[in-house]
Amino acid sequence: MQRHKVSQLLSSGSAGQKISVCGWVRSRRESKNFAFLVINDGSCQDTLQCVVDAGTPAFDLLPRCQTGAAVRIEGVLKESQGKGQAWEVHTSAIEVFGEADPETYPLQKKGHTLEFLRDIAHLRPRTNTFGAVFRLRSALAWHVHDFFQSRGFRWVHTPIVTASDCEGAGEMFTVTTMDLTKIKSSPGGAVDYSQDFFKKHAHLTVSGQLEGEFMAMGLGDVYTFGPTFRAENSNTTRHLSEFWMIEPEMAFATLKDNMALAEDFLKHLFAGAVKDCRPELEFLEKQYQTMKVDDLARLAESKFAHMTYTDAVAELKKAPVKFEFAVDWGIDLQSEHERYLTDVIFKAPVIVTDYPKGIKAFYMKQNPDGKTVAAMDVLAPRIGEIIGGSQREDRLDLLEGRMREMSLPVEDMQWYLDLRRYGSCPHAGFGLGFERLVQYVSGMGNIRDVIPCPRAPGLISF
Ligand code: ATP
Ligand code: MN
Repeated sequence: MQRHKVSQLLSSGSAGQKISVCGWVRSRRESKNFAFLVINDGSCQDTLQCVVDAGTPAFDLLPRCQTGAAVRIEGVLKESQGKGQAWEVHTSAIEVFGEADPETYPLQKKGHTLEFLRDIAHLRPRTNTFGAVFRLRSALAWHVHDFFQSRGFRWVHTPIVTASDCEGAGEMFTVTTMDLTKIKSSPGGAVDYSQDFFKKHAHLTVSGQLEGEFMAMGLGDVYTFGPTFRAENSNTTRHLSEFWMIEPEMAFATLKDNMALAEDFLKHLFAGAVKDCRPELEFLEKQYQTMKVDDLARLAESKFAHMTYTDAVAELKKAPVKFEFAVDWGIDLQSEHERYLTDVIFKAPVIVTDYPKGIKAFYMKQNPDGKTVAAMDVLAPRIGEIIGGSQREDRLDLLEGRMREMSLPVEDMQWYLDLRRYGSCPHAGFGLGFERLVQYVSGMGNIRDVIPCPRAPGLISF
């Protein structure tokens, strides 16, 4: 018989239907006359309860159906007597694919801490929490594409290995095939990358933006969605060394268009999560009480707050709290400042614009005041920065001047300057850290719990 998924059976099963379902045993309860096997197959948050009558061949197999075992259940669907579930299975046959020794199976007991589960990243997708998080992650990724594709943005694939080093110098992972033991012993210290695979110093990308820009200069509206790597030594609950980033770039667009896009985008993602993952979100809300489904649904309909950096600094200076980092015009806002704006003042996401040019990237468009750039960060409650973006400097002389001021390798960046030499136009874009989004929507406290294999300083288990 063809295999049914639990999600199918629960949404469109019918009484008396013959079914065959495969999954992992979540729990087993036995009494004299019958037993219950509760099965989850990852297709949805819910489990399926299977009743096995004593005296049947299936009943004799129960000792092998330990928590965690993989089984196939055949039987008939019937309306459940118990509360909390609509259907249960009256079991006629069991096939045990793989047992799970209760003496050693790490998930034999419920109620493990997230820290414990992080150490068994290869088993945690079988838990309620991680099932919920990873189904949510998948749905959000789908809605990322859905949003952009329905608006005529093209998905472009920017390189993962790059030789451009003006974006995150010092934060990049080198890519090399050189024999490291030999490099170490080379006199003088300087590494001769002309001997390396690419004959240049190559790294893993920290952002696809610069390449996204040249694609936008031909295709109009584009977006990237791919892995990004940062070798920064940030051991926080919001930073990973490998994360996924979504970077739209629009030709013929200003900061205003960029803000509107970011707001529509996030709202589309919030609404999509509520539409497709309500059981997951309800589970996470009950379990962790950080993100409420109703709040998420409301956010999807609300207007985001806007404020300039200068106004934000004024607000923060008035704040009746003592920050660890003192606030003054010109500082980079710290997480505590961002969270004061979102969690205390607005209690919602807020878009902060027009930051001092000294703390922002070289490519951001300089404002007429000579002090600020057309930057925008979207800050989310609990998390802080979730999106960073800007209108790009489209004037050749100003861009080149800024690059020289910042001692960037102007000669290597001629291709980037060409975009301002030929057919330059106002354009803008932003980067959304996908895991920060999943973290925000799920309410998970640590970003390491929203990606299957988290990488962070000192953390790469396999
Ligand atoms: P932060 O100040 O929070 O470290 P950033 O300003 O360095 O972030 P950007 O270079 O603006 O980050 O990157 C765009 C987006 O990518 C950020 O808004 C954030 O959502 C995400 N992001 C940046 N660094 C990380 C990281 N190490 N782990 C996960 N997401 C990240
Ligand atoms: Mn940023």
